[in-house]
Amino acid sequence: MKTIKDMNLENKKVLIRCDFNVPMKEGQISDDTRITAALPTIKYCLDQNAKVILFSHLGRVKEESDLAKNNLAPVAKRLEELLGQKVTFVEKTRGEELENAINNMNNKDIILVQNTRYEDLDGKKESKNDPELGAYWASLGDVFVNDAFGTIHRAHASNVGIASHLDSCIGFLIEKELNALKELDNPTHPFVVVLGGAKVADKIGVIENLVTKADKILIGGGMAFTFLKAEGYEIGKSLLDEENLEFCKNILKDYKDKIILPVDVAVTIEYSENEPYKTKDITEMNENEQGLDIGPKTVELFESYLKEASIAVWNGPLGVYEFEKYKKGTDELLKFVVDNNIKMILGGGDIVAAASLAGYKDKVYHASTGGGATLEYLEGKTLPGLEAIK
Ligand code: AMP
Repeated sequence: MKTIKDMNLENKKVLIRCDFNVPMKEGQISDDTRITAALPTIKYCLDQNAKVILFSHLGRVKEESDLAKNNLAPVAKRLEELLGQKVTFVEKTRGEELENAINNMNNKDIILVQNTRYEDLDGKKESKNDPELGAYWASLGDVFVNDAFGTIHRAHASNVGIASHLDSCIGFLIEKELNALKELDNPTHPFVVVLGGAKVADKIGVIENLVTKADKILIGGGMAFTFLKAEGYEIGKSLLDEENLEFCKNILKDYKDKIILPVDVAVTIEYSENEPYKTKDITEMNENEQGLDIGPKTVELFESYLKEASIAVWNGPLGVYEFEKYKKGTDELLKFVVDNNIKMILGGGDIVAAASLAGYKDKVYHASTGGGATLEYLEGKTLPGLEAIK
């Protein structure tokens, strides 16, 4: 697959699909990780004397009222600060204003186009990869660089659409993400997988794909309770994914030694931050209680496997990390990983948010910028955004 270094970018109009889908609070960017992650590719194109035209989506646009809150203008401002140069923001996703702005560019100029999902208002043109839209955007440039790892598992007009019309490659961010994930294709052993988060349903594909490759799968979070129920434990009012109870029973039967479940949990009687909690062995839960975090014995148990790991991947927090009280299990295991230099890939989404909050994100081997994309990679699925480049 072609990477940006394989392209001649000199004097070219280079269209770059970035992932500027940043969290926003009251019109302010609350975390600019995704913008800084895009800088190496943008800077490289500038150094090559290219004209740089940036595309990204932000949030979801279903109705008129979604437009204002998903305006990409604040990203243009932040980019200007980070790059120390002017970024021309075009408020439209198509038309004369955009075309004129591009035609008037000099080498090393930068344009950011309005949120690609503004096109979703009229028949989901971006998200359904409308052929006319992809062809139109492609007509605006000479070369296409896909650097939006977070949407690589989707076929949208701004990635697959453009790529099918132009000489295309991947940027440095996607290259870095893939290089890390590729290490899991034929992993060195012991290979340890840590899974948490709310639902078993979301992780079935990953479990099925990795259970033969991994040496251990450590399961915490809400999803652990369906497995514990399958083992016959009382789980009280903890999260239960009834539909997938049978799946849990079967996988436990086939891979009993590989799947490691919590031995103790933080339990409470209400899903809230105010109610006190107790730590109990998993054999001691009663029907009124719910488990919202793993306990210290489980942390120790998980550490004993991670300590031996040659490589590990982690998707999903091990407790309700949004509540101060129930982030302990996740934070302690993250600390152990960092303190012991364990080669850990954090699979995007909530676990990266948790690592970021606790100050560990930049200390792990790799923290992915794409939760859904990483999950689909781990499920062994093909990624349309990549296929289009190939
Ligand atoms: P996911 O998107 O599947 O990775 O799930 C992340 C969510 O799982 C977070 O919002 C956590 O609050 C939630 N979660 C983790 N552990 C538990 C638990 N024991 N009970 C309820 N929710 C949990």
